[in-house]
Amino acid sequence: MPDTLANLINNRFEPPRSGQYLDTIEPATGKPYARLPDSSADDINAAVDAAKRAFPAWAATPPAERSRLLLRLADLIDRDLERLARAESIDTGKPISLARSVDIPRAAANFRFFASAILHTESASHQTNLAGAGDPQRAINYTLRQPRGVAGLISPWNLPLYLLSWKLAPALATGNTAVAKPSEVTPMTAHMLSELAVEAGFPPGVLNIVHGRGASAGAALVSHPDVPTISFTGGTETGRAIAHAGADTFKRISLELGGKNPNLVFADADLERAILESVRAAFTNQGQVCLCGSRILVERSIHDEFVDRLVQGAKARRIGDPLDESTEHGALASEDHLKKVHAYVELAKRLGGQIRCGGARAQAPNDRCAGGYFYEPTVITGLDPACRPQQEEIFGPVTIVTPFGSDDEAIAIANSTPFGLASMVWTNNLTRAHTMAERLDSAIVWINCWMLRDLRTPFGGMKHSGLGREGGNEALRFFTEPKNVCIRY
Ligand code: NDP
Repeated sequence: MPDTLANLINNRFEPPRSGQYLDTIEPATGKPYARLPDSSADDINAAVDAAKRAFPAWAATPPAERSRLLLRLADLIDRDLERLARAESIDTGKPISLARSVDIPRAAANFRFFASAILHTESASHQTNLAGAGDPQRAINYTLRQPRGVAGLISPWNLPLYLLSWKLAPALATGNTAVAKPSEVTPMTAHMLSELAVEAGFPPGVLNIVHGRGASAGAALVSHPDVPTISFTGGTETGRAIAHAGADTFKRISLELGGKNPNLVFADADLERAILESVRAAFTNQGQVCLCGSRILVERSIHDEFVDRLVQGAKARRIGDPLDESTEHGALASEDHLKKVHAYVELAKRLGGQIRCGGARAQAPNDRCAGGYFYEPTVITGLDPACRPQQEEIFGPVTIVTPFGSDDEAIAIANSTPFGLASMVWTNNLTRAHTMAERLDSAIVWINCWMLRDLRTPFGGMKHSGLGREGGNEALRFFTEPKNVCIRY
């Protein structure tokens, strides 16, 4: 891994124009290990300029050729799986086994998926038949879908390469050029991807990556007049700022934002499986997945048994050095984030919550990790569903369990937050499963499963969890402009 990262602009690796750099910290040790460009509007302007110049030729490139380059990039990611997984683990604090089995393979899968999707698209056509007196008018309408220009892609720190590729792949596949701004907290695999993109043979200016802070580089991208499309994944407050900033230039904006996902467990569920998956849903990636089940609602008759077994599962998670193969629970992304998570636990205590396990910084697993940001898997009970820890996104290894007495009560609690990303329902009653799916205010409902993903399905959130959808045809539509052509004959 390099110790100084560069921006990729027009297929050249460039230092920031300001000469300023930021430190990248390894969360497992708390120590800086690389530096990244602290880019300014000047770097963003240069990247947008390169992307704008590259756009006409890339848009005119046959889909089969765009597809070939994206598939080549996917192959290079596969080739470098081990190197990328190690880098992702060091940069984020996530267990290397998770990076190797999910983050990096999924990035390659994203490129492959959209590389093949563009070879199988269809467009609508409508025949119009207006019978006029002596002059029957007939016309054929067809829809052209054209790329929109330069796409600005902004991604967060929890699944760095996975979520960056989820945006880059459809943007480039459909013929847009891109300027991406990865999270300043986790820039390493984005830098490595820029090297692979050059190796894959993408023409200059098609894919540009500019590192730096959201408030400077990110904000410059979002307000740039030559960027008509913004795809953002991150926190709800940042999403709000981006929606405001993009309004002046009427940008098309997709926002994938935070969640406070309810996980509903009914007494008729397969309890063994529900508990196993609830542990996974609460604590995967140290609870730093937007889809995590951070509120568990359990039917009262099984509540106490469920909590006991959930606590056993939480305590059994192997906390360790993220680079250790057997680690299940690594470090949180940053010291600030650890403080935020702990502040919510302290607030929960003050509000009368009972900490059933965890609730504190975890002991460092070895000397190397002495300064790392480890936090214990934490289960809390006894909190009013309306209180702040139940309503606000904590985004850490903290889950709160609440009993319910009826289906109506479960729905009322589940839908009581401003968020609407994902829900889980555990039941063996088919009617209940369908009814819950209809009544839950969330854009994704998993019945008897969690994080079972199919790249063709619409992905996103409702309410304050986002605007628009990614995935499959939704992404192909988002990155293209529909144009109706009407021909009279
Ligand atoms: P942030 O909103 O803090 O940051 C996301 C990205 O936006 C980063 O690249 C950040 O840069 C950048 N940014 C910050 N401010 C601005 C701005 N004013 N203009 C443009 N860009 C800006 O989110 P986090 O990185 O903290 O990620 C965690 C959040 O992401 C959680 O809320 C989580 O729920 C959400 N998320 C949602 C998902 C979904 O699909 N719905 C999936 C994964 C995460 P920098 O890091 O440099 O500040």
